[in-house]
Amino acid sequence: MKKWINNLRLKANGQKYTCRRATYFIEKRHEKALNINDLTELYMHLIICPFCRLYRIQSAMIHKMLRKIIRTESANTVAMNGDVKVQLQQIIDEKNRNI
Ligand SMILES: [Zn+2]
Repeated sequence: MKKWINNLRLKANGQKYTCRRATYFIEKRHEKALNINDLTELYMHLIICPFCRLYRIQSAMIHKMLRKIIRTESANTVAMNGDVKVQLQQIIDEKNRNI
């Protein structure tokens, strides 16, 4: 248990755990559940990294829109609604101001 905690600390303070790994797990999590170690490592990184927190929000929005498009797919007319574009841009601008 102590070894596991030390390993987690090492990964969480940035020596082994990178933003690349975090974004991989953020994307993987949309496809299937992460094991407890990966999930814990991801959240430890998210605590210290505002960029990955923003990436997680944007990724969730993109996946949500994709699921909606796929569900309501109509032949060859896959396009984003104009109101959704404006709302999405406002959210992105606001998040960028807060970094
Ligand atoms: Zn990061």
